[in-house]
Amino acid sequence: MRPTPDITPYLGQLLDFRRDLHAHPELRYEEHRTGDKVAAYLAALGLQVHRGLGRTGVVASIHGQGRDAGNPGRSVGIRADMDALPVAEANTFGHASRHAGCMHACGHDGHTAMLLGAATLLAQQPDFDGTVHLIFQPGEEGGAGAKAMMDDGLFTQFPCDAVFALHNWPALPAGHMAVRVGPIMASTLRFEICVTGKGGHAAMPHATLDPIPVACAIVGQLQTLVSRSTDPLDSAVLTVGKITSGTVENIIPDEARIFGTVRALRADTQRMFIDGIQRISEHVAAAHLCRAEFILKPGYPNTTNHAREAHFMASVMRELVGEAHAHTDLPPAMTAEDFGFMLEAVPGAYGWIGNGPASGEPGVGLHHPAYDFNDDNLGRGARFWDLLARRWFEMP
Ligand SMILES: [Zn+2]
Ligand SMILES: [Zn+2]
Repeated sequence: MRPTPDITPYLGQLLDFRRDLHAHPELRYEEHRTGDKVAAYLAALGLQVHRGLGRTGVVASIHGQGRDAGNPGRSVGIRADMDALPVAEANTFGHASRHAGCMHACGHDGHTAMLLGAATLLAQQPDFDGTVHLIFQPGEEGGAGAKAMMDDGLFTQFPCDAVFALHNWPALPAGHMAVRVGPIMASTLRFEICVTGKGGHAAMPHATLDPIPVACAIVGQLQTLVSRSTDPLDSAVLTVGKITSGTVENIIPDEARIFGTVRALRADTQRMFIDGIQRISEHVAAAHLCRAEFILKPGYPNTTNHAREAHFMASVMRELVGEAHAHTDLPPAMTAEDFGFMLEAVPGAYGWIGNGPASGEPGVGLHHPAYDFNDDNLGRGARFWDLLARRWFEMP
């Protein structure tokens, strides 16, 4: 194993870069300034920069010196997300958001800076046999930017034998990292159910088909999909977050609308929910002589780590932060992540890098107005990606 380059001389510029992104957050598919800055940074390293995949995505490749026409070597993709959230920042520090109502509340500013740090190290010392594709994606927050880049040909233009991604994790102290085999984040789907009855006078319900008790019955019955149809050793959530119906108390309305979301850790569980929500809503409505229309709004698939790549990622974590700080036994989270699209197409793994304070207390949660990325991770994350790429090429 050859020694890896030192990140220390670059920490200052990474910190400035990260805080500049934090001060100038951009929402999904509006990452124009961010994309310009990322592209300029990569170009200054002497890398050829490809822009436009998924509208605002940026890709650059670093070819190792050991690679030639007869020996193209392996390729590995490392992905960082670049977008911010529609959150009004509560922090008052110098690098707080200057864009009202928009904030890097998920730490994607840090993810971007960590990968640029790795680009610096890999470009400085490309003594490896293979190609690293650095993937800076737009629109992770609800925009399926990973899929948008793939639809534009990401993996045909930049073929990857494996892809990896990291997310900062406030519940884990800085200095710790985690990855697990199998599902690490849930799938999402959104649904709407429109229950149609027949309205009329509140005092003459017998002459109507009241959709409100039917909608209530549907909401209650839907929970049996979690309690009765989901394997007790699996996990899933069904939440109805919104119901709309009616105008005043003395009129029975014609219709009621139910809006909900499902989170599941397995693709077959998600399919069970899709079938089950439709079946229950239609049949409960029919039992009351009403009609229910089920409208599915697809979200993200599960983020399911491939075993070989997750074991490999864990070995790199152990090498970087030590056995005691590299976790492989944390439970999955019911949050979702569009990296799941990439893992459906290419083997790979997604891990967590602790973002909590050194005190060991949990950090401010993701998507919270007082959140900030822990800058201790800039060097750690950059070294992790540098190491991961080099070890990937060294693997037998
Ligand atoms: Zn987020
Ligand atoms: Zn995020």
